[in-house]
Amino acid sequence: MQIKNHKLVGARWDKARNIYGKITPEIIVVHDTASRLEKFNAANYLRDNKRGVSVQFVVETDGTITQQVPTNRRAGHAGKSTYHGLGDVNGFSIGIEIVNPGKMTRVDDEIARAWFGQIFKIKDYKIEEITTDEHGHGLWMPYTEEQITAVLAICEACFEYYPSLMDVQPHWYISPGRKIDTNPLFPLEQIRSQILGREDPADLALGSFVDDEYSPESMTTIFTPGSSLNMRRWPSFNPNVIATIPHNAIVPILEAGEFDDRKWAKVLFGGQEGWVVAKYTTEAQDFS
Ligand SMILES: [Zn+2]
Repeated sequence: MQIKNHKLVGARWDKARNIYGKITPEIIVVHDTASRLEKFNAANYLRDNKRGVSVQFVVETDGTITQQVPTNRRAGHAGKSTYHGLGDVNGFSIGIEIVNPGKMTRVDDEIARAWFGQIFKIKDYKIEEITTDEHGHGLWMPYTEEQITAVLAICEACFEYYPSLMDVQPHWYISPGRKIDTNPLFPLEQIRSQILGREDPADLALGSFVDDEYSPESMTTIFTPGSSLNMRRWPSFNPNVIATIPHNAIVPILEAGEFDDRKWAKVLFGGQEGWVVAKYTTEAQDFS
C-alpha cells in the first residue's frame, strides 16, 4: 500500500511481536501514545513488548510513519471496546498511534507535567487547558501539522485500498469511560468529514454566514509585508497549515465566511484550496 508523500520507515513487522490472525478492517481507530516525544520511543515499545500490545501505524511528531503490523492482520491496540454494538474492535480495525504525551496536569502558570513525570513549558508547546465530557479536565498538547497530514494520508490510503472501511473514530469513542485518547485538540470532525466524504463542518457553518465583501471567484492580493501567510486546510488555528503564500501573491477567492468570530477566505494557491485569515487579503484591483 502506498501512502501519499510519506516514505514508510519499515515496514517493520518482520521481527515485531503481537501480530495476530487475519482481519477485514471496517474502521480506523486513532490513539495517543501517551508517551515521551523522542522519535521511535513509543514505536519501539509498541513493536516489541510482552504485554500483547501492538498497532498497525505509529506517527512521530515530525510526521514519520512506521508500519508495524500489516493492515490485514489483527493488532493489540483497542483492548476492551465496542463499536455500534460489536465488541472486540481489534478484530475489525486498523490502529494509528499518534505520538503525544496524553493528559497532563498543571504544575504552575508555565509548566505542565505528563503522567510519566516529564515537564513541558506550556508556552513552547502551545499546551491548552480543556475540559470535555469525554476527556475530563486536563492540559493537552496539540498535534503537529506533520502528524495531522500523516494521519490523513494513512486514512486516505487505507480507504482507497479497503472498500470494507467505513469509519474513523478515536479510542475514547469505542472505549468510553476507560480511554480518553485522542485528546480534545485532535481535529476529529474535520478528518472524519475529509475521509468519509461528508460535508465539511466549515462549509456547513458557512451556510449561516456569507461575507458580502467577497464575491466568489473574485481575486485578492495577499498582504503580509516582510512575511508570508499560512494557508490552512480548515478555517481554524488547529495544526493544519498546508502552504504559505508569499506577500503580494494574487489568488482567486472561492468563498468566505466567519468562524469563531474571525473572517476567513478560501483561496486557491499552488493547485490547492485552503483558508486564510481574511484581514491579510486586499481586493486585487486596489493594486492595479
Ligand atoms: Zn488508545
